This record gives sequence, C-alpha cells and structure tokens, in this order.
Amino acid sequence: MLADDPIQTAVARALADNMNDGGGKNADYIAALASVDPTLFGISVATTGGDVFNAGDADVEFALESISKVFTMALAMEEVGAKAFRAKVGTDPTGMPFNSVLALALHADKPMSALVNAGAIASASLISATNAEDRWHKILAGQSAFAGRSLSLSDAVNASEQSTNFHNRGIAWLLYSAGFVYSDPMEACDVYTRQCSTMVTTADLAVMGATLASGGINPLTKTRVIRAENVPHILAEMTMEGLYEASGDWAYTVGLPGKSGVGGGIVCVVPGRLAIAAFSPRLDQFGNSVRAQAAITQIAAEQELNLYLAG
Ligand code: GLU
Repeated sequence: MLADDPIQTAVARALADNMNDGGGKNADYIAALASVDPTLFGISVATTGGDVFNAGDADVEFALESISKVFTMALAMEEVGAKAFRAKVGTDPTGMPFNSVLALALHADKPMSALVNAGAIASASLISATNAEDRWHKILAGQSAFAGRSLSLSDAVNASEQSTNFHNRGIAWLLYSAGFVYSDPMEACDVYTRQCSTMVTTADLAVMGATLASGGINPLTKTRVIRAENVPHILAEMTMEGLYEASGDWAYTVGLPGKSGVGGGIVCVVPGRLAIAAFSPRLDQFGNSVRAQAAITQIAAEQELNLYLAG
C-alpha cells in the first residue's frame, strides 16, 4: 500500500484532527476498564481487498466488550439460520440502554436485539456446545476467524467483569424463566462475559468488520467465516442497535452500520468496500467513544461513505 493513498491520508488526518478532544471518560463500572490509559487513540481501515491502513495506537489491544455481540450473533445465526434467530432472539431495536430490564419487561422478556446484553446472552446460549469451555472456545475461534489471527482473552478484564456481573446474571435468569435462553443461563452469562474480555487492536477490528464488508470472507485469510446471506441481517441489526441509544442519530449523521463497546472501540462497515475501526477509551453518556466517533464520522464524510448517498 502507498503512504499517499487517500485512505491512509484520511486515517492520519482523522487522528491528528481529533487528538486533542479530551471529552468523555473511561467506563468505570468495570474496574479493569477504568484504569486503561485514556489518552490512547488508534484508527484502522481494512479493505475487502486486504489492505490495512493504520494511525496512532492501532497496535494496542483493548477489550472488545459489546462489539463481541456482533460476532456471537453471526455464529449463532450460522447455526440456527436467520429465521429461527429472529424468533429466538428478536431483531428489533429496544431504544433503551444495553442492559435494560425495562426493555425486557415491555417485550415479555424477549431480548429483541442480539446487540443488547439480553440478546447477546441468548445468542451465546444458542451456540451448540457440551459445556462452558466448549461454548467459549467456539466463540473465541469464531472471533479469531473474523480477525484472521488467534485472539485471546484478558484474564484481568474477565476477572473484573465476572466479579461484578450480577445485573447480567439477573438478566440471564429472566430470560431463562421466559424460555429465551437455550443453555444453562449461568453458563451463557459466563461465556458472554468472557467474549467481552477478548482483546483486539483496531487493525484486528477493522479486519473483523471487513469480513462482513466482503460478505463473510476474511480479506486476509480468504477464508469464508459465515454465509453471505446472513451478512445483511447482521448489518441491519448494527444500524438499528449498534451505538446504544445513539444508533438512530448515528444512522442519521454518518449513515453506516456500526457497533461500539464500553472498552472504547467502534467498528463501522461499508458493504463491498471496507471497514473503519477506531479506539479511544473516553466515552460519552451513551457508552460510545468520543474520539472514535469523531474519527469515523470524519473519515466517512471525507470519503463519502454514507450508505444513503446516491451514486
Ligand atoms: N461486558 C459489558 C457488560 O455486559 C459490555 C457492555 C458494553 O460494551 O456495552 O456490561
């Protein structure tokens, strides 16, 4: 790839232009996230052709957190099919916080979206497995296939979350009582918590997104990770629920399916072309990284990537 490639230029400029934005603060309800260096800032773009463009801290690992929901959704859908997935988990936005019990109460305890905690726990439970280790290794293998390298979990982040995830355990029991969790509920919650603790760089995350952009084929390994027919369902869900309660505003202003996590990462997908990933730990009131949003917004506007633009 050329240093003067327009995408490389855009990525470097987005880093420089947003570097001094000190808004937001690290997630603090998970102790291991509160202590991450708030000044970290990385941006990567991966194309469906296999080029990867980086700027800043693109080689620093961070916790995938809620972004993991996209890839577990993909794996569960691969197993049960899009139609059954819709019935078993649901495919509408809740319009409420990612861990909302009220959203469950309003829908007879059906999760509605795989991209909120309830739906992610249900998705993890849908993966066929003999026990928790088997379930976890299938999910980690799936995440690694999307990234094109062997990913691993942070013991520190996982321990920190496992010791404080009582709310998510409550959600898992609510799902169980209503018939929307398909394994032992505490096993599903345990494995969901582990999947959030997987560590990635923005370069990894961009490749994971580019695998969706190329219809399920990893652009680096050239391996098919999921069926092409499932990709539009996943991207639709990302548009509806990917940036928490700001998802509608994100569609309105940026026009790209995305997913963010409280670790500070965001990935956005431009079908057929590329994915943009950015990471910076300081979050806004919804849980979206302030500088990652700014960087992706800038690159998408400059490169005219909004999906709703004609031509
Ligand atoms: N592990 C976090 C939780 O379940 C993920 C939250 C997020 O990134 O939205 O609370």
